[in-house]
Amino acid sequence: MAKYQATYGCGHTGTVDLFGPTKQRENRLEWLATQLCPDCWKEKQAKEAPSRPIFASVSLFDTDVDEKVYVVIELGGETYSRKEDLKKLGFSWGATPVGPTCWHKLIPFEDYIKNSAIVDDIIRELKEIAPVSVSTSVQKKKLTFILRDCNRRRNFAKKLQKFLNLKSLSSLMEGGMGKYMLRILFT
Ligand SMILES: [Zn+2]
Repeated sequence: MAKYQATYGCGHTGTVDLFGPTKQRENRLEWLATQLCPDCWKEKQAKEAPSRPIFASVSLFDTDVDEKVYVVIELGGETYSRKEDLKKLGFSWGATPVGPTCWHKLIPFEDYIKNSAIVDDIIRELKEIAPVSVSTSVQKKKLTFILRDCNRRRNFAKKLQKFLNLKSLSSLMEGGMGKYMLRILFT
């Protein structure tokens, strides 16, 4: 490895570490001569950021963690320069149970069933801060299936509540033991 003085396409110069055969180093220097220097590159990125889109992907998932169903909106694309706005819109940065680390929002399935326009509203808010490209994998067939499954669980819990003579259904559903019992009885 050796240090070289590179001249970039923008006319700025900088020191770069190059290794490998001489021909490869020469090729690299030639290529750098067509590129922007790191500072100009950063400046260009910052200038272009506002016109770069956010990609929103809407999907459904069951979590193994709390056995709840969510509609998840995951964001990709130019989110970095808009993170403050995303925070204000209620998005969180982190890993979702199904995907990589990204800005995302979880909508409880019950809320979505009550008002599916909730997703459209969120997309509309996003469009106020960036150009947005949306893809959705939420299909009607899958919705019907999950709804049926939720109802089945609810009905079963009700029966179980009656059978066990419990006053509150929520204690059964929320208590760890109740969930455990439901899981055993379901499988
Ligand atoms: Zn430059």
